[in-house]
Amino acid sequence: MKDGFGRSIEYLRISVTDRCNFRCVYCMPERGLDWIPRDNVLSASEIHDVVAQLAPLGLRRIRITGGEPTIRRDVCDVIARIRSIEGVEDIALSTNGVRLEAMASELRAAGISRVNVSVDSLRADRIAAIARRDLKLDPIRVLHAALDAGFDPVKINTVVVRGVNDDEIASLAQLTMRLPVHVRFIELMPVGDMADTGLERVVPSEEVLGAVRDAIGVLLPDVGPPLGNGPARYFRAPGALGTIGVITPMTHTYCASCNRVRLTADGRLRTCLFGDHEVDLRTPLRAGIPLEPLVVRALADKPREHALLQLRTGGLRALSQTGG
Ligand code: SAM
Repeated sequence: MKDGFGRSIEYLRISVTDRCNFRCVYCMPERGLDWIPRDNVLSASEIHDVVAQLAPLGLRRIRITGGEPTIRRDVCDVIARIRSIEGVEDIALSTNGVRLEAMASELRAAGISRVNVSVDSLRADRIAAIARRDLKLDPIRVLHAALDAGFDPVKINTVVVRGVNDDEIASLAQLTMRLPVHVRFIELMPVGDMADTGLERVVPSEEVLGAVRDAIGVLLPDVGPPLGNGPARYFRAPGALGTIGVITPMTHTYCASCNRVRLTADGRLRTCLFGDHEVDLRTPLRAGIPLEPLVVRALADKPREHALLQLRTGGLRALSQTGG
């Protein structure tokens, strides 16, 4: 699949639900959103059918995300069905980790090879404050469970928010000295409830890397973990078991190498995280109309770059709505 700028699109992020057991301050409003009506959420067999129609066009890699994908009851069925599709080489999962310990072996058996766990803090009180929910999450236990289950690589996503968790950059980076995990610091994208803060809460990646160097000394550039599909730049401390990455939506545009599109839980193909570029696939899918021409047209219209830096987010209120 090529888009209008010649970029090869082989990676689909599938939001299997817009719901979440967290209400992270930078992601969702406290009282939740207007949830997608259940009838509009694609079933496991419909998700299979979308992927089955895209795989012959060159789709190779899938990420299961949300919302929180592990709260969808039939998530393992969704995964197992996708795994059966010829051409799909890799299925990854993004999760907040709350249900990962309980579900790790089931997810592995269904076909998940690797996971990204969101860890914004190592402090219980702070995790609860950021998530606006106290679900007694112990991120270290979750990471051990993920490693023990054989997920490889295990990546950590940390959204750095100034004044909220930027004092934990060093301790999160130090995890890579004792665990084979890949810690990725993500620049806050001021959308949803955080839109009003503009750029004041954003901690630029160079500042993050400075804090890491201050804490652990030399950082060597690294190619990062195998099986990376995304825009992170990676580094490694000498002797470390894992790597440290930065993802820089606010300070460096990486749209030129964008390789992805997104499928929302209600079956809209979103060709850019921010903006209004999306096409309804659910209606034609349910009517038995082939999706290929619609997808080809949507890719031709994929924008050259997102408009996030102008804070134009296309009415997007939360990443949970898009498969962020
Ligand atoms: N619930 C899953 C999780 O926690 O990973 C998957 C969905 S969540 C929307 C995916 C990722 O988006 C998480 O790592 C989350 O921290 C990140 N995210 C959400 N809102 C963000 C924002 N405003 N800026 C930067 N990253 C954000």
